[in-house]
Amino acid sequence: MQQQFGDLRVEERYWAKVKVNEITQCWEFQGDVPLGYGRVFVRGRRGQMLAHRFWYERLVGPIAKGRVIDHLCRVRCCVNPQHLEAVTAAENSRRSPLVMKMIEESAARERAKTHCPKGHPYDADNTKPIRNGSGRACRICQRAAQRAYHAQNRETERERKLAHYYANHEERKAKMRAAYHQRKAKPKASNSE
Ligand SMILES: [Zn+2]
Ligand SMILES: [Zn+2]
Repeated sequence: MQQQFGDLRVEERYWAKVKVNEITQCWEFQGDVPLGYGRVFVRGRRGQMLAHRFWYERLVGPIAKGRVIDHLCRVRCCVNPQHLEAVTAAENSRRSPLVMKMIEESAARERAKTHCPKGHPYDADNTKPIRNGSGRACRICQRAAQRAYHAQNRETERERKLAHYYANHEERKAKMRAAYHQRKAKPKASNSE
């Protein structure tokens, strides 16, 4: 099963809520997660839907009747179809130490790395544990990402203000014109008396 993060069969606005955990390769849903399960709202359908079922249906196919989606990775908010399998309810309850072992091994390989993907060292100063305890992050890369995010925000904010200014510009000019004509009109009125 070859599935790409960002696959076009799932719309951009849904992908915006998913972050890849680089260690476990879980696609962690960040939005609304009651009981740990992601929830999405789907237009023109039943309304709300479990996120992992939504991703599974879009990227793999319809879920046969009576099947439940099993999280092989045991991460409830994960929507990576490679971690999902449609199984019977009975199968679902006796799962799946083998896959857990696979994931643990991949996490161990990740822990053994001494540098982030950009080549910054994973030393005491530069390493930050990830909130859910499943890995770590490079502080240099995180700061760079934050700076980029804020720069982008400032840019957007400036554009918004400019747009607002120009939207009101004509209106302001019209008001000033009206006030000017009023001032001019008044003395004439007093002359004719
Ligand atoms: Zn997963
Ligand atoms: Zn880095």
